[in-house]
This record gives sequence, structure tokens and C-alpha cells, in this order.
Amino acid sequence: MDINSFSYRQKKWLVLVAEDEPISQRIIAKNLSDWGYEPIVVSDGRKALSVFRQQRIPIVLLDWMMPGLSGPELARQIREIDQKKRKYTYIILVTSRDKIQDISAGFAAGVDDYITKPFHPLELKSRLQAGMRIISLERQLLNYQKKLEKLATTDSLLRIKTRRQILAELNSELARAEREQQNVGLILVDIDHFKKINDTYGHPAGDKVLKKIARQLKKNIRQYDQIGRYGGDELIIILPNCGLSEVSSISQRLCQSVAKLKIPLENKITIQPTLSGGATSSEAFTRASPQSLINACDKALYQAKARGRNQIVTYPQKQTIARSI
Ligand code: GH3
Ligand code: MG
Repeated sequence: MDINSFSYRQKKWLVLVAEDEPISQRIIAKNLSDWGYEPIVVSDGRKALSVFRQQRIPIVLLDWMMPGLSGPELARQIREIDQKKRKYTYIILVTSRDKIQDISAGFAAGVDDYITKPFHPLELKSRLQAGMRIISLERQLLNYQKKLEKLATTDSLLRIKTRRQILAELNSELARAEREQQNVGLILVDIDHFKKINDTYGHPAGDKVLKKIARQLKKNIRQYDQIGRYGGDELIIILPNCGLSEVSSISQRLCQSVAKLKIPLENKITIQPTLSGGATSSEAFTRASPQSLINACDKALYQAKARGRNQIVTYPQKQTIARSI
């Protein structure tokens, strides 16, 4: 059976059946199909584990005794994977062992429920339904959690990362870059004369300009670059694997792409905003920290404003890299 041939698109629940006895296999598989599940039947514990790793399987039926890995051993490994992947699998142990010690050992290994052989199909059906209820609840909770995480880490106006989140990303990006001996580029931009836009056309117009600029920058960076709101009209962009030369040319491109914007406001008024910025890369530092990169960008941003705005200055210039910064 091709285990990749079915998916949640079909709205069928995958049930992994790890059972080595052919008659039980056939009966369980037939019942599961009749009840609308999509059974994946394997007859050895190791194979079951490898199928489990490849697929998002919500429910597992485990035989206690199997070649490869026993049911409880498999349950233990499934729990470890679940923990790493932050998900939950409902595990039902199917066993002919009905001593309390065995049952207790099964639960200790991480199973949620058990059913003793021989069993009535209706019993299995009911236990699967209980499992589905638990998994549905777990998925709802995960969805809420994801939504909350997104809300907490996204700027509500600009739909980009919040200051706290982008700084956390910068921190982990720098750690990753150090491990992999790569560079991280950083650009800090600030909209030119933004206060004047607010004062002249009103705060909602300012909001619109800010949103368009954030969207334009987002559109013009790579998928694995990250953008966040540093505060007010300041945005920050993290550019993985970028040295000073790359950061410098990306900066020019971004600056020009914003300067090309024509943002329509009410009464046929069009605004052509510009931005100034400072850029740098960890390439210029012996030990780059988020703060040292931001300080360098800040310095360069100040220069860009002083030199007449609508430009991004890279600091330090390539030829003047001082390894001791
Ligand atoms: P400069 O070219 O020197 O950067 O001038 P500026 O006017 O942009 O500088 P300043 O820092 O004085 O102004 C930033 C303004 O951004 C002030 C603040 O009211 C406005 N601002 C901050 N957040 C928002 C926002 O979410 N929406 C709007 N509309 N304005 C905002
Ligand atoms: Mg500004």
C-alpha cells in the first residue's frame, strides 16, 4: 500500500495498525474502512515507527507483541516524537494480556486506552470515537495556540513582526550564523518626514503610507529574510547570509523600490514617500550581538538623514572594516 496516497483532503482519519497476526489485521482493517477510517496496516514495530515518522497519524492501534518493537516500546517512542513535534497521538493498545500489571505497564509506556482480544467490533469503534474526540480537541487547542502566538508576535497595523519578536529572531539568527560561520545583514529604515505626512494629511493617511511601505519592503526581500517594526516609523530587516557588499546592494534596491511608490490618498492626492536607513553585517564584527548591529545601523541611519535622506548608508564601509568593533 502506498502510504502517501491518502491525506486529510479526503477527510478520512488515518489509523496506523501495528499488528502481526494476519487474521486480526484483516478484520481490523475491514472494520476501520467500513467505519470511514483510512487504515495503514503494518506487521512489525519498527516499520510502524517509520510509517509514523513519515505521516501525520492521529490514532495508532498497537498490538502488544510484535517483531521489531513491542507495543509499549513503540508507544514510548511515539510519545517522544509527539513531544518534539508538539502534537498528540491517541494510542490504543490491543492485547490479549489482561492482567492489571500488564495494563498498568501499557499506560506507563504512554498509551491512552487498551482493548483486550478478542473484542467486539463495537467496542473498538467506541474507543476510536473517544480517541477522535481527544484528537479533535487537541487540534482545536493547537490552532488557538498558533493564532495567539501569531497575534502576540505580529504588529497589528503593519502585519509584520513586533519589535520584541524581530529582536528575538535577530538573536537566534546571529547564533545560527555563528554556528554555521555565516554572516547576518541588518537594515534599519526610517520614513522621511513622516510626521509631516501625519500633520498634513492626517493619521489614517500616515497609517496607509506606513502599511504600503512595509508591504513594499516585504515584497522585495527574500522569503527567508525577516522584517519587523522597530518602533514608530522605523522598520528593521534581517538578511541571513549577507556580508556588507550584499547588504549594501540590497539596501539600494529597497530604497529605490520605496521611492518609486505612488500612494493615492483622498482628493486625488498622491504621496511619494522615501526612507533613509542604516545597514550593516556581522561580517564587520568579531563578535556580533543584536545590540552592536543595531548601534551600527543607527549610526549609519543618522548619517543617511544628515546627507539628505532617501538613501541607506552601510556601516562600516567595506574597505574600513575594523575587526575590533
Ligand atoms: P525624519 O525624516 O527625521 O525621520 O522625520 P520624521 O518626521 O519621520 O521623524 P519623527 O520621528 O519626528 O516622526 C515619526 C512620526 O511617526 C511621529 C509619530 O507620530 C509617527 N508615528 C509613529 N507610529 C505611527 C503610526 O502607527 N501611525 C502613524 N500614522 N504615525 C505614526
Ligand atoms: Mg522618520
